[in-house]
Amino acid sequence: MRLPIGYGPEKLEAERRAGSNSKEQQPAANSIVMVITEIFKSIQGEGTRAGLPCIFVRLTGCNLRCTWCDTAYAFHGGQKMTVEEVLARVDELAGRGAGKQASDAAVPLVELTGGEPLLQEQIYPLAESLVSAGYTVMIETSGERFIGRLPKEVIKIVDVKCPDSGEPDTFDANNLAALTENDEVKFVLSTQRDYEFAREFTRQHRLARRVRGVLFSPVFEDPEGKWPGLEPRLLAEWILADGLPVRLGLQLHKFIWDPATKGV
Ligand code: SF4
Repeated sequence: MRLPIGYGPEKLEAERRAGSNSKEQQPAANSIVMVITEIFKSIQGEGTRAGLPCIFVRLTGCNLRCTWCDTAYAFHGGQKMTVEEVLARVDELAGRGAGKQASDAAVPLVELTGGEPLLQEQIYPLAESLVSAGYTVMIETSGERFIGRLPKEVIKIVDVKCPDSGEPDTFDANNLAALTENDEVKFVLSTQRDYEFAREFTRQHRLARRVRGVLFSPVFEDPEGKWPGLEPRLLAEWILADGLPVRLGLQLHKFIWDPATKGV
C-alpha cells in the first residue's frame, strides 16, 4: 500500500518544492530540515546487536501500513530539525565530547529508524555525518525503498514483508544485490503462512550466505488487543524442524519495559 502525498515528510518535500520557484526562498543547504518523531537512548532490542546501548533516531512518516505496526505514532506529526541539530542531539545522548571521535563515546551505536527513514532525502547527509563522526550506524527499513544510495559503512537491517503483514510484494528486488555481509534481513511473522514464505525466500536467495544475520521475529501481541501475536515457542519449533540457519529474534525492549511504552 503506497500512500498519496499529504503526510509527514512528503508534505515537507512538497512545501520545499513550492518555495523553490523564488531564489530568495531557496533554503541554504544546511537549513533543509527533516521530520523527526523522537531521538532517544535505549537498549537495542533486535538483531545481532541486541542488548547493546544504542541511540535511536526515529524519522516521521511511512508509506506502508503493516497490520501489526507498533510505531503508528510515527506516521504523522514530528519536529522539523536540520541534520546538524539531529547530530548535536545524538552527540549529547551518546556522550561524545567536542572534537572527539564517536568511537570513544559512551554509546557509539546509532540506529536510524521510523516510520520509513528512506522517505526523507536528508537521511543521506545525516548518515554520512554520523559515519564521519565515528559512529557505528544502522538503519532499519521496510525494504520497499532502494538501500544502495546509503554509505557502504551503514549497516542495513532490511525487512521483507510477509503475506499476512498487509503489505506483501513490496520488497524492492534490487535490494538483494545491494546487501553486504555486514547487513541483516528481517522477516516479521504473524502466521505459519508467513513463516513458510520467509523460509522459501531465505532458501531461494541463499540469504544466510549473503548477510550477517537472517532474523525471524514473531509479531508481539498488541497490548490493546488490536492484533494477535505469534507464539515464539511455535516459531522456534518450526525453525528447528526445518534446520534453518536463521536467528529467532525477540524484541528485548518489550520484555524489559511495558510493551506499550514509547521511546525505549
Ligand atoms: S513499514 Fe514499519 S513503520 Fe511502516 S507500517 Fe510497516 S511496521 Fe510500521
